[in-house]
Amino acid sequence: MLQLSEEIRNAKTIGIGGHIRPDGDCVGSCMALYLYLKKCMPSDAEIAVYFEKPSDIFNTIKDISEIRTEAEEGKQFDLFFVLDCEGSRLGFAEKLFRQAKKKINIDHHISSNGCGDLNYVDANASSTSELVYDLLEKEWIDEEIAKALYIGIIHDTGVFQYSNTSPKTLRIAADLVSYGFDFSALIEKTFYEKTYLQNQIMGRALLESIMFLDGRCIVSCLDRKVMQFYNVTAADLDGIVSHLRNIRDVECAIFMYETDILEYKVSMRSTDKVDVARIASFFGGGGHKKAAGCTMSGTFHDVVNNLSVHIEKQLNEEEN
Ligand code: 5GP
Ligand code: MN
Repeated sequence: MLQLSEEIRNAKTIGIGGHIRPDGDCVGSCMALYLYLKKCMPSDAEIAVYFEKPSDIFNTIKDISEIRTEAEEGKQFDLFFVLDCEGSRLGFAEKLFRQAKKKINIDHHISSNGCGDLNYVDANASSTSELVYDLLEKEWIDEEIAKALYIGIIHDTGVFQYSNTSPKTLRIAADLVSYGFDFSALIEKTFYEKTYLQNQIMGRALLESIMFLDGRCIVSCLDRKVMQFYNVTAADLDGIVSHLRNIRDVECAIFMYETDILEYKVSMRSTDKVDVARIASFFGGGGHKKAAGCTMSGTFHDVVNNLSVHIEKQLNEEEN
């Protein structure tokens, strides 16, 4: 296994990057590693963390205001960590990763092949936060680091509901809550609580959803005009796709929103019967077996037709 203390020992500058449209696991794992390195590295070491400005719900994480949302020109880090994604999903921070002297990739996506010189990639882990926890020397963990990791784990496991939750995940969570933060409030504030507008847009998406393949699939789509009407951005749409998936008899749910003319960001959720990571990867995206995404071109109907061919094939294979 990767020995973190060995790798950071001789680095004077360390960068950390997370993926575009950062989710809870991305934010939690990056910030936990950032807080940890700031604590255990000598004071003259430069530690920097890069990802897009996340949702305000993550403001409870210590030093979140220190994230860098732009990459410095020509900067070369001694060591660069790529968390919760591959190098190609880093967005603006990708050039920092490419230029770094040494790269370490920590990820749990089944579609991830390991883009670093060193890789700690395990598709069986619930979250990247769980993998970061594995690597930290426990005597340096404090309440703020524990809280960031806990946020990452609850977001990627749907508060320990999804099948990626293992006994190990729960043991780690038990250790993390022993640091004393208010985990109950954290779950409420960062996972369940939604604004009125977020609830309204969710209602609209559910209302306009369409079943197909004999009710085994469901799709809903929001175009930019509707998003503008409700004054919401992509970050306000979290949770819609899992609501669609929760409908009885649905094996695969698709939620998509318009990102550009004839371009959609697609999120998929499934049961055991459909491997959505395979479908998303086919269309240039990735993810996990039961939760994956990609960006697709064409009209709404083009996208649904293209996806449904793959879904139907898998459902038929499953039956035969
Ligand atoms: P979500 O549907 O919540 O955006 O993403 C579900 C899972 O699929 C997450 O683990 C996310 O990282 C992954 N994912 C979503 N969109 C993409 C994409 O465009 N490319 C890749 N490689 N993974 C994605
Ligand atoms: Mn993740």
